[in-house]
Amino acid sequence: MNIGQEVLELLREEITELQYNRYIKQLTYDIKKSTSDMAIFYAPNALVLNWIKNKYTEKIAHLFEIKSGNKVNVKIALKNSTSLKGKKPKNEQKPQHSLLNPSHTFDNFMVGGSNQFAYAAVKSVSESAGEVYNPLFIYGGVGLGKTHLMQSAGNVFQNQGKIVIYTSVEQFLNDFIRHVRNKTMPSFQEKYRKCDVLLIDDVQFLSNKEGIQEEFFHTFEALKGAGKQIILTADKHPKKIGGLEKRLQSRFEWGLVADIQPPELETKIAIIKKKCEINKVKLTNDIINYIATVIESNVREIEGILSKLHAYSQLMHIDIDLAFTKNVLRDQLQENRANLTLDTITNSVAKDLNIKPTEIRSKGRSKNLVYARRISIYLCRELTPNTMPQLAQYFGMKDHTAISHTIKKINELMKNDEDFRVKIEELTNKITSVS
Ligand code: ADP
Ligand code: MG
Repeated sequence: MNIGQEVLELLREEITELQYNRYIKQLTYDIKKSTSDMAIFYAPNALVLNWIKNKYTEKIAHLFEIKSGNKVNVKIALKNSTSLKGKKPKNEQKPQHSLLNPSHTFDNFMVGGSNQFAYAAVKSVSESAGEVYNPLFIYGGVGLGKTHLMQSAGNVFQNQGKIVIYTSVEQFLNDFIRHVRNKTMPSFQEKYRKCDVLLIDDVQFLSNKEGIQEEFFHTFEALKGAGKQIILTADKHPKKIGGLEKRLQSRFEWGLVADIQPPELETKIAIIKKKCEINKVKLTNDIINYIATVIESNVREIEGILSKLHAYSQLMHIDIDLAFTKNVLRDQLQENRANLTLDTITNSVAKDLNIKPTEIRSKGRSKNLVYARRISIYLCRELTPNTMPQLAQYFGMKDHTAISHTIKKINELMKNDEDFRVKIEELTNKITSVS
């Protein structure tokens, strides 16, 4: 196996089998043209190319770094394309820090009520590293722009010539293990402690991992002590991350803790327009509005849809219209939700409302239980292909009329009660982003 194949095998462990088979498996590594700082892969068509480029270039680059110890620039091209031929990759361009996505900039970030606080915080940090809020801690749900914001600051610093390290906890941990195994811990420590700016994504994954918390604590202390900027993100407030050493939790709150909320409709529309502009996709306003209303809040889902629309329309030489959009969206949502089972949904609802999952399906009539049961029924209907009779059976109800009655009730509530609607949207988002 060559190093390119090995890297793809590593990636395989982190993604679903479906994604691997449909996309990653189709890549071929160009062992001849690749060099120690440039990895070249070929994709068989534009669809696979765009999809992998958008989602996995950074990841693949990082896995290369883990495997080879070198920073590697990853290029993915169409098979038989000429764009890479004759180009001498070495020493022509300035070495790129391939781990930061260059399109994650402040200019590309759309600001609205939901994210303006976090935006302002990151922006001011980017204007005076290590001086205002250190560390800066950003938290919020999946796909709301935490990584984008954090990397926007990273890109500013990098352009100033500062040494920026961007890593997820997972990657930090892998790197740590590799250095322990190779007995090269001093170089690990030097790498992380000598940078000017450290960006660590998704620190909730530190939870219950004592060894790495210890190492991370010392890295943190060294950097903070030297006045180097640290930015952290997580899916929740430091206080709510369980299994975290007290000293780490308190340090996470030392600087500023800023939250990001799900975007309002106008912000979603602005984001879609921006993404269209960046990706040179032309969409009419009714399509944009349609996407913005169908996708609840996860912006990453919006991006996936745009790149799919774009790829399909190019591949099949057709214009993107509303009917076409609806089809693509249906596919995408189904793909995201394919793994959802009735148990996963009821378990998430139970967890969120502090109820035992078995109780939701019991005959209990207490107010809390009825509330949780109704929400579960509604979400199971929305998010899985189960029929009403199937749901009636699962929830132990007489027949499908009880189910349809419940769904009607929830729909009414959502129409009349803004807080309730938001609650349902949050739950939907939580459940669908887990899968
Ligand atoms: P998170 O790290 O919070 O899960 P990301 O930062 O990865 O989310 O964002 C997911 C995608 O959505 C990214 O491609 C990002 O560019 C985009 N995105 C999120 N919020 C915004 C925004 N306000 N403006 C523009 N793009 C956004
Ligand atoms: Mg992220």
